[in-house]
Amino acid sequence: MTPAAVPEAVPVLQPAPAGAPVTQDLHTIPRRLPEGGRPNLVGMTREAMRAALIAAGTPERQAKMRANQLWQWVYHWGVRDFDAMTNLAKDYRALLAGHFDIALPQIVTRQLSDDGTRKYLVRIEGGHEVEVVYIPESDRGTLCISSQVGCTLNCSFCHTGTQKLVRNLTTAEIVGQIMLVRDDLGEWPVPGAPKVETRLLSNIVLMGMGEPLYNFESVRDAMLIAMDGEGIALSRRRITLSTSGVVPEIHRAATEIGCQLAVSLHATTDAVRDVLVPINRKWNIQTLLDTIRDYPRLSNSERVTFEYVMLDGVNDSDEDARRLVRLIRGIPAKINLIPFNEWPGAPYRRSPPARIQAFADIVYKAGYASPIRTPRGEDIMAACGQLKSASERARRARPAVAAPLA
Ligand code: SF4
Repeated sequence: MTPAAVPEAVPVLQPAPAGAPVTQDLHTIPRRLPEGGRPNLVGMTREAMRAALIAAGTPERQAKMRANQLWQWVYHWGVRDFDAMTNLAKDYRALLAGHFDIALPQIVTRQLSDDGTRKYLVRIEGGHEVEVVYIPESDRGTLCISSQVGCTLNCSFCHTGTQKLVRNLTTAEIVGQIMLVRDDLGEWPVPGAPKVETRLLSNIVLMGMGEPLYNFESVRDAMLIAMDGEGIALSRRRITLSTSGVVPEIHRAATEIGCQLAVSLHATTDAVRDVLVPINRKWNIQTLLDTIRDYPRLSNSERVTFEYVMLDGVNDSDEDARRLVRLIRGIPAKINLIPFNEWPGAPYRRSPPARIQAFADIVYKAGYASPIRTPRGEDIMAACGQLKSASERARRARPAVAAPLA
């Protein structure tokens, strides 16, 4: 949804660097999503898993218990090998192996920034590619995941907006992004080992490619799996869904997912927002803000985040800052100010640092937190959508771009 960094020079796609983190042995079974093969357990809800087990021959009275066991193996322990599921009888493991796959999308390339940011290009069924970015900080590790291949919304500052929508991701492909990065970080819990207090992958933001509220059911099911206490077990407070402003689905996100909400605002007048975020022509600023005021979970401890990309001479004046605080008055909120990541051919420039600071000061003095996002991964292609475009250009130029990691 939002750009993450400005590359100074566009690097060549890189395979995994030597000495990359080692994936635990338990997780080395298939990573490629099955193409029309056996049903994949990854992406199944508890109810779907139970029904699939019954269809595969599990007696109905045992199905709930078996689904719970399998659920924990797949989503909590990250196990891909049915033979490693030691609390299941051998013949039952064989039955499962004959009926199901446990498979993730495939990492095509991974770029490692000097600042620790990892950017992955991930291949999904049909050969399509999406981007996933892991951003480590001292007290957290945030994973930015994608919900669609391309996007319909054409936000004029966004590189992904230049790529047309190919399709929505499935639940398996969305939750699979989290699982494969846990693989890459070597972060699945080990049975019997002490619980880790601070996770490497502790937060998720749905700010990658696509508009998550245009793929509601798959995003919801994937996030419910991520939040499940017997699954990946991330708190709903550590998951943020970022929308460009799909007004009819915002209330539903609060009630059916219950995660934190971020809104790509980026402008303080409809005339400017109509250009930057064209969905504004359908649901304008006033309609959007009225809907957010009604977001059931909003309180001082659960604020909405407004994303605001700083574009030189477009939306960054003192008057914009003052108008912004008038517009959001009464909404528990923080405003993330994002220095624009220029990409080749971008029609905008990043606001100068002093302008961004002056804007932040006005918002802060009005009582709102206004952190300026530190650009990350400046030495890799971290603006959303860039890595995918570079991969497509490279593929057109030559048949193979880099050795797969898995
Ligand atoms: S909604 Fe689509 S075009 Fe707009 S910022 Fe998000 S990914 Fe880019």
